[in-house]
Amino acid sequence: KFHNGEFIMDKSEIARFINKKDKNAHKGNFGRVSIVAGSRGFYGAAKIATESAVKTGSGLVTLISDEDVQEKLCTVFTEAMTVNYSEEERVKKLIENSNAIGIGPGMGDNKTTLNILEEILKIVKCPVIIDADGINSLKNNKDILKNSNVETLITPHPAELSRITGFSMEYINENRIDAAKEAARNLKSIVLLKGNRTVITDGYTTYINMTGNSAMANGGMGDCLTGIITSLAGQRMNLFEAAVVGAYLHGYIGDKIAEEKYTVNATDIIEKIPYIMKEFE
Ligand code: AMP
Ligand code: MG
Repeated sequence: KFHNGEFIMDKSEIARFINKKDKNAHKGNFGRVSIVAGSRGFYGAAKIATESAVKTGSGLVTLISDEDVQEKLCTVFTEAMTVNYSEEERVKKLIENSNAIGIGPGMGDNKTTLNILEEILKIVKCPVIIDADGINSLKNNKDILKNSNVETLITPHPAELSRITGFSMEYINENRIDAAKEAARNLKSIVLLKGNRTVITDGYTTYINMTGNSAMANGGMGDCLTGIITSLAGQRMNLFEAAVVGAYLHGYIGDKIAEEKYTVNATDIIEKIPYIMKEFE
């Protein structure tokens, strides 16, 4: 327990969530997840989120994107599969059969992104992690989020939280916990507010993440977190717990790498995920 009712997680508590793989396990046990991400010029966001989910241990990972992104990445990926929006029947089936979906990185803040998010929230049966342009696109359409039938998590940095709530940046930066809690209650979504001491809250229970550092403050880092949390949720971890455990792991890995690197990039984190998870097994 932290001061006035907020919780923090320590290493031994995180370890309870990362278990030895059963000897009879097959890929179905580790979940199917879909990452909806990328647009022209933003291939990296889709690549990072997808590969982060692969490395976190999902049984199957599929990137759902436009045709341009698919074409660029389908030969880059080794483990992950790709589908594009125009393959409507395949996309629909994939969404219906996913154990978790991560949506938003690099999609562009536009009507297309909003339409895709809206369509997905209509048919989905699993938890949905909404990041980046997924959050931005909802700013004038919050009802889509509020009325969703499934559990959702939004993962804004302060500017994205400001856009979707209308709270000023000053208010958010000076009242990170309260701003995140108000947003969670208003939007009926779990909120993970990024930055130094990431706040994770459903509006009532709040965790403060103590891992992570400013060497991680660079493009792609958030896309990596989206992939990690989506993977954990797909492995049947409860969505709130997946957010807390994912933020912890992401920051912990970043802290380890920062001991020997001045700057930590998402690709550094991705590589290390399975090695560090082994420490927690
Ligand atoms: P994004 O802004 O979406 O790229 O996400 C950046 C990621 O890096 C989030 O997970 C942040 O919490 C993390 N991060 C960035 N700066 C810091 C910092 N100064 N301390 C701890 N974590 C940070
Ligand atoms: Mg981001």
